[in-house]
Amino acid sequence: MDAEYDVIVVGAGPAGSMAAKAVAEGKHRVLVLDKKQEIGAPKRCAEGINIEGIKALGLEPDPRWAVNDIRGAICYSPSGKTVKTEFGVMKGYVLERKIFEKHLAAEAIRKGARYMVKTNARKVLKENGFVKGVKAEYMGEELELKSRIVIAADGVDSRIARDAGIDTRNVLEDYHSGIQYEMAGLNLEEEDKLHIYFGEKIAPKGYAWIFPKGDTVANVGVGIAGRLSGDGRRAIDYLNSFIESHPEIFQNASPIEINAGGIPVGSHIKDMVDNGFMAVGDAAHQVNPIHGGGISLAMEAGMIAGEVASEALDKGDVSRESLKEYQKRWEDKFDTKLKKLLKLRSFLEKVTDKEFELFAETLSGEDIIRLSESKYKFLIGILAKKAPHMAPIAKKFLSK
Ligand SMILES: Cc1cc2nc3c(=O)[nH]c(=O)nc-3n(C[C@H](O)[C@H](O)[C@H](O)COP(=O)(O)OP(=O)(O)OC[C@H]3O[C@@H](n4cnc5c(N)ncnc54)[C@H](O)[C@@H]3O)c2cc1C
Repeated sequence: MDAEYDVIVVGAGPAGSMAAKAVAEGKHRVLVLDKKQEIGAPKRCAEGINIEGIKALGLEPDPRWAVNDIRGAICYSPSGKTVKTEFGVMKGYVLERKIFEKHLAAEAIRKGARYMVKTNARKVLKENGFVKGVKAEYMGEELELKSRIVIAADGVDSRIARDAGIDTRNVLEDYHSGIQYEMAGLNLEEEDKLHIYFGEKIAPKGYAWIFPKGDTVANVGVGIAGRLSGDGRRAIDYLNSFIESHPEIFQNASPIEINAGGIPVGSHIKDMVDNGFMAVGDAAHQVNPIHGGGISLAMEAGMIAGEVASEALDKGDVSRESLKEYQKRWEDKFDTKLKKLLKLRSFLEKVTDKEFELFAETLSGEDIIRLSESKYKFLIGILAKKAPHMAPIAKKFLSK
């Protein structure tokens, strides 16, 4: 193993492997470290992704990892009323992330990246105000690995970004707790749709989901605001209640996996770069604030960061100012839309069960698509007519 690299990437998730691939394509030496013994496992994810996210990265869906085609979504109100959305050409997939992440890593390796698994990065090395590599542990052995740039792709609790001096704190309301079982034996109609359940008793300020993987298997989970709800119940308590309240689906089902994780649904961190340092993906809180999805945003961030790192190395300038170009390109592409979606999240958190029932009676599938595209004007109009008490709140959060 070479002692010095151009770039060290900490974390071989979707963000890290895309960054490594872009650096290797720029003909620079890149090493990726992951503390797991197997890339992609265990997953902390419901594995939903849309085709746009895959194609934007030049990937072609492969049935080995894009295991179930998703043609639409069904949203359920607290009392069980439904709004059905058809995605049309914007279809999506449920992934097998264990295979998907290995695929992304293999692609980066084929381009020239090197990987080490079971290697825990503990600290960044600093010299003269520049990050210069990491201290890591591999099978009980302490390593000092040097590089000109470190990319932190180590997920939501990024120790490496914090150690580099980046502020990654989340206020509690902007941090959702997600927990899920992968289950087999479901009796679920419409396995080609995502099933999303709303309600204060189901998932306060969040939602419960069933993301089918086909052949009676699905990811079944709950995301709630904070670590505990107002009444002290944990996400797992809500998940178990959700399953118990739907015997028609889960009577013969059992878990084959359980996983949990935090979801940073606030906004991306203010400073994504420093001298010799970049943060990408969940480490930079680059997540859709409405549904908590972060795979495609993480991959795009990784790709942009890898390209900018390569350009900076070519110029011989890895300063904060030079690497800031990554943050600029990422914000130019995503910031406006994500900020609008954050406002929608703030609005939806004020919506009571009664109003969710009204939405289910009033909104169509196309309306749900419009909301996901951050088009809100029509909703303010509907509320002005049907729930005038909500109109000022909608105006406050949803008009510009
Ligand atoms: C319950 C749940 C459900 C979700 N469902 C979806 C969904 O359906 N669709 C979607 O798009 N998003 C979903 N997300 C979010 C999604 O999983 C993340 O946004 C995405 O994984 C971010 O990718 P990443 O590469 O930034 O980080 P991660 O995927 O978290 O990868 C980080 C990697 O860094 C490694 N690592 C961490 N610390 C170190 C260290 N010190 N040294 C070495 N390696 C280290 C980890 O082992 C890991 O491999 C969900 C999240 C949760 C918690």
